[in-house]
Parts: sequence; C-alpha cells; structure tokens
Amino acid sequence: MTNNKLLSDFKDALRKEGLKITPQRIAVLEEIIKNKGHRESEDVYMAIKTRKTHVSRATVYRTLDILVQNGFARKLNLGDGRARYEPKIDSPHHDHMICNNCGKIIEFVNHEIEKIQEEIAKHHQFKLQQHIHQLFGICKECQ
Ligand SMILES: [Zn+2]
Ligand SMILES: [Zn+2]
Repeated sequence: MTNNKLLSDFKDALRKEGLKITPQRIAVLEEIIKNKGHRESEDVYMAIKTRKTHVSRATVYRTLDILVQNGFARKLNLGDGRARYEPKIDSPHHDHMICNNCGKIIEFVNHEIEKIQEEIAKHHQFKLQQHIHQLFGICKECQ
C-alpha cells in the first residue's frame, strides 16, 4: 500500500492546491502508484469504481493533474489525443515504443541515445530540461 512519506507528500500537494484530503483522492494516488501501466484517466476511474469507492470522473481527472504537477505521475501524449498516465515514483526515466495496431506500449532505455541527445543539445548550447522520445510501429505480436 501507500507508504507514509508518499501519503504525507500527497496531502501537502492537495493542501497547496487548496483541496480537501478525501478517500477518493487518496484512492487515485494508490491506483496510480500500484499499477505500472500507461493508463487513461477513464481506466483509473474504472479501476477505482470496481474497488467500490465512489468517485467522480472529474475528481479522478483533477487528482491526476495534481499527481502530474507534483511529480507523482507522468502524463504521456501519444499523439492520439488521449492522455496516458504512469507512476513516476520509483520509475526512472525511460522512453516508449507504441504499437500502431494494438496500442501496446513498450518501455526502453538506451544510454547511447540519452548521451547523443545530451551531446546534440550541448552542441547547440541548448539547456536540456526534458525529452520525449517515442517510436511508433507494429509490435511483435501484431506483425
Ligand atoms: Zn501490437
Ligand atoms: Zn512508461
């Protein structure tokens, strides 16, 4: 379950936003932390609903926003207009490969790619803050 430090950080984040600490909002945090997938807000909403916690879509959406803004979750834009969320806690930087057929998302890290990106930025005297590297194609199962 959610560890204490995480929970108190989350409560601080809610307070900072002027929001009440509710079981619903804590359920969103728990749902994001326990599932390593890349899910839409609707998936998170459905998962919480099946746990018999009454929550509104608006609350899920708003809480996900707060999780992203405060470094608990990462929001992915895969170019299809549907935001995906994944946990950022205990999840180091990685890039994604996305299957155009089934939508599967494969995570990868390549240190050479990371290094080359940094070198390119340096060459242009560009101060790199973040990068998004996404590869689109057809996965092994769909080929
Ligand atoms: Zn596929
Ligand atoms: Zn990921």
